[in-house]
Amino acid sequence: MNISEKLIHVQKSFRSEGIPDSELEASILIATAIQETRSTLYANLYEEIPQKYIKAIDEFVQRRLKREPLAYILRNREFYGLQLEVSRGVFIPRPETELLVDIAIARIRNMASRPPIRVVELGTGSGAISIAVASNVSGITSLATDISDFALGIAKKNAMTHGVSDSVKFLRRNLLACFSDSIDVLIANLPYIKSSRVPDLAPEIYLHEPIEALDGGEDGCSLIIQMLEQAKQLLREGSTILLEMDPEQFTIIGVHTRKLWPAAHLTRHIDLAGHDRILEITINP
Ligand code: GLN
Repeated sequence: MNISEKLIHVQKSFRSEGIPDSELEASILIATAIQETRSTLYANLYEEIPQKYIKAIDEFVQRRLKREPLAYILRNREFYGLQLEVSRGVFIPRPETELLVDIAIARIRNMASRPPIRVVELGTGSGAISIAVASNVSGITSLATDISDFALGIAKKNAMTHGVSDSVKFLRRNLLACFSDSIDVLIANLPYIKSSRVPDLAPEIYLHEPIEALDGGEDGCSLIIQMLEQAKQLLREGSTILLEMDPEQFTIIGVHTRKLWPAAHLTRHIDLAGHDRILEITINP
């Protein structure tokens, strides 16, 4: 079978299973299996595929047909220009979270007059946010936590790959438990999907990603609120909290924030899809 025939065949089977971007995904998986780039693939469409690669391609295709996310099959996801390792058991970083990183970097740069700035990220998963921030700013001490040892292992590897393992420390912690030092910038993309909506997520997410990284309880806000209550003692005047959430959660989280810090300044940031996505809280500016 030549590359063109295989591409058409795989693409058709993806399409009939309702897998989006079937041609792109087929070409990525075939190129990865035969250890070539996609452009080499398209430059050699009529070359026969050596038998030794057919099995590798078919294994990838079968996994994808079971709706395993492409990122898990490739063991990689690009985030904020960084190639990050991801695998089953670790939440796959999403493009909307890059906005959180953008804002964090901008705020930290503005605070640069009083380093070292203490940055804490909760629920780091693959380490994406903390590694992206640490790769773009200096003069910070950065701490990233997660409840999953497996995720922390991957996050440490990613930090090493990107040369920031000295600036980001990873700790196994449930939210802010055991924290006592004050925090300048607190960042979190915690689970915020309503429990009742979890089964409606795409099969790639629902069947394969760690549900504990997505399920935010009855209204999706329970971990965020718990974290804000813990943060009350740890933030000082001028500290910033950056939180990712669903558009419908801004009101409820806003009300809780005002109870804790009546003078806080709240700003909504809109993601590329046009949805309110990031809440920025500045404590008593
Ligand atoms: N935005 C993510 C998704 O829809 C949810 C992320 C989260 O719960 N933190 O898959």
